[in-house]
Amino acid sequence: MSLPDLQATDSATLGASLAARGVSRRDFLVFCSEMGAALGLGSLAGPSVAEGLQRARRPVVVWLQLQECTGCVESVLRSAEPTIGNLLLDIISLDYNHTLMACAGQAAESALNQSMRANHGTYLLVVTGSVPMADNGIYCTIGGRTAHDILVEAAEGAGAVIAVGACAHWGNIQAARPNPTGAVGVADIVTDKTVVNIAGCPPIGDVITATIVHYLAFGRLPELDGDGRPLFAYGKRIHDLCPKRAHFDAGQYVERFDDDGARRGWCLYKVGCKGPAVYSPCPIFQWNTRTSWPIGAGHPCIGCTERFFWDTMTPFYGRLPADVVGGFGVERYADTIGAAAAVGALAGVTAHAAATGIHRMREGRRSQSLPVVEPPPPPDAGGSHGQD
Ligand code: SF4
Ligand code: SF4
Repeated sequence: MSLPDLQATDSATLGASLAARGVSRRDFLVFCSEMGAALGLGSLAGPSVAEGLQRARRPVVVWLQLQECTGCVESVLRSAEPTIGNLLLDIISLDYNHTLMACAGQAAESALNQSMRANHGTYLLVVTGSVPMADNGIYCTIGGRTAHDILVEAAEGAGAVIAVGACAHWGNIQAARPNPTGAVGVADIVTDKTVVNIAGCPPIGDVITATIVHYLAFGRLPELDGDGRPLFAYGKRIHDLCPKRAHFDAGQYVERFDDDGARRGWCLYKVGCKGPAVYSPCPIFQWNTRTSWPIGAGHPCIGCTERFFWDTMTPFYGRLPADVVGGFGVERYADTIGAAAAVGALAGVTAHAAATGIHRMREGRRSQSLPVVEPPPPPDAGGSHGQD
């Protein structure tokens, strides 16, 4: 997708802006190398990221918060690099975000209107929150206008649209059965433009940052999967990156959260881990400046980067539903998909599309208790606990 030129808020390029704020050339190149690696472009991509960022002009960003909890904004505040201060002051010009901006009420809404008029066709629209459609959208109004009307107007003049979080992606818990407010995602409303879905509840702040850096450095959005998620972050299954995978394959499972297996760091599949059916950047980017992530902290993945996870991945502490993995035993699924992925990139994309398609097929989401998928038995039928 080709994008319009980024709108400058002043005459300075990003490179000049960063230099003026005391960012050394060395620190800039280190940051660009880290972003190149985060984007899956390899260790040699730093110079091309640097060249693109150096020349780019600070874009105007309009950030709408609709039917949501503000957790996604909190997640961005915890991006490892750049810090929110850099993001706000050096990389983007955040013209509107009603949590972070100083003004409120009429002044804030005026700022939004002025920015959309002045930068029509070029600004970057970031959206968190779902859009309630029931009863003419009255379940989310800002300044007397419905979320639907605000989104439609803002999207019309946007150069690119990024939906951040599960709420903006597909509706999230608001859209779980019975979805009383008729909540939908941004892409259900904005159908004439590509919508990037930064999936998760909340998503990892560094993924949002890296997506914006890609847009600035290369003038286009990153490559997406069939659900609008950037492949650099959502192209791999948690189960295939998980440090506990060897325990899964060896049949070493946590049976209770306080048992010996839990203390030894064994696989969490039997206590509800949905990692075999989930594509997510958690194992790579991790959380809180790369301190840890749910599975690393001993908690099962609940599948929050996948559509309809409140309906398809619950009960969270129950075993992975058989119908999520197409009725296969998960070990057979893992072997089949894993072998196919090893053949090459195309096979990997196909496997990814297949898993995404599973969720598409499940749009008539179940409301009954879930069947159980049996994991492979431990190699020692007596169940003795081997060493890590
Ligand atoms: Fe909150 Fe999760 Fe929605 Fe983000 S995706 S706004 S964290 S409920
Ligand atoms: Fe890791 Fe979960 Fe897979 Fe076990 S089931 S290996 S904890 S992703």
